[in-house]
Amino acid sequence: MLTVNAIAAPSATEPLVRTTIERRDLGPRDILIEIRYAGICHSDIHTVRGEWGEVAYPLTVGHEIVGSVTEVGSEVSRHAVGDRVGVGCMVNSCRECPNCRAGQEQYCENGNTGTYASVDRDGTTTQGGYSTHVVVDEDFVLRVPEAIPYEAAAPLLCAGITTYSPLAHWNAGPGKKVAVVGMGGLGHMAVKIAVAMGAEVTVLSQTLGKKDDGLAFGAENYHATRDAATFEALKNTFDLIINTVSAPIDMAAYLGLLRLDGTLVSVGAPPEPLAVPVFALFGNRRSFAGSGIGSIGETQEMLDFCAERGIAPEVELITADQVNEAYERVLKSDVRYRFVIDIDSLR
Ligand code: NAP
Ligand code: ZN
Ligand code: ZN
Repeated sequence: MLTVNAIAAPSATEPLVRTTIERRDLGPRDILIEIRYAGICHSDIHTVRGEWGEVAYPLTVGHEIVGSVTEVGSEVSRHAVGDRVGVGCMVNSCRECPNCRAGQEQYCENGNTGTYASVDRDGTTTQGGYSTHVVVDEDFVLRVPEAIPYEAAAPLLCAGITTYSPLAHWNAGPGKKVAVVGMGGLGHMAVKIAVAMGAEVTVLSQTLGKKDDGLAFGAENYHATRDAATFEALKNTFDLIINTVSAPIDMAAYLGLLRLDGTLVSVGAPPEPLAVPVFALFGNRRSFAGSGIGSIGETQEMLDFCAERGIAPEVELITADQVNEAYERVLKSDVRYRFVIDIDSLR
């Protein structure tokens, strides 16, 4: 066992604190990663606050991890000491169910093993990336291209893949009108990736406060959702809407923005159910769908795509002592556009 520095939530209501956690001894297929940067995803906040259900405390979250390989197990072949690597939202899956066999292990029918707050194969609770080291099976470790700036790469491991996957699945590209609802961590990546895929992108944000940024990321249009006129002006417009909002939205209003055969995909994960009036689906034969992260294969594809196209998240680097403050700012939508913990401040 390796005892390493970490940041953990003692309970659903207390601030996160510095602590130590244990990492397992390296198995033959395991990799020891010295973590350099860890992104703060809104899912970390939903989880530690118990909004998605009960979790075991103390809990270390963090599933946007980049660092370097410092040790490999005897049978490891995919990665070598010194490689720049990443770990996202899952660290294992059953590998036998139809979805795992189809390379869609994020949808493992037996439940993938989450990077944190999941039951690991040894029966312990997995602990995430707000820590100095992590041990992960090599099949769930990604190659992070050198072309992506080190300090900006971490958010790709969740925010990047979670938006890339539905954009690719629903064919965002030339001739397609795509709207992104909410321009936070996921939203700003959705804009950059959809633009790179060739779609015409519109941002739907609560206010026009971040309009200059949205246009700089390549969006053609930017509208305030607090202005009711937006929903009149954009009726029957979009082929695809990616909803990244962490709170419930007015489903009838947003579905009304879809044109014939359009789809609204929710990646935002509010604890409360979204109320869908079926009549809003009848018009224009609309669809409402969800999408969860992405496979390991697709995550590698996304990382290579971002490296090739020069796409990287916009990050604000913070120290280990600023995490609680960062959480408060995320909750106020005051994030531009992802907080990333400099893990050197934890050593
Ligand atoms: P985030 O950085 O906080 O961004 C969410 C954005 O939603 C905010 O920046 C804000 O954008 C908008 N927003 C927040 N509260 C709102 C409200 N009450 N009404 C309207 N708009 C609001 O969060 P994130 O890290 O991108 O995560 C977004 C959601 O996706 C979370 O629920 C997270 O758990 C979920 N998630 C899901 C997956 C998946 O696999 N499906 C993966 C990762 C994260 P504006 O300021 O532009 O309005
Ligand atoms: Zn996440
Ligand atoms: Zn499976």
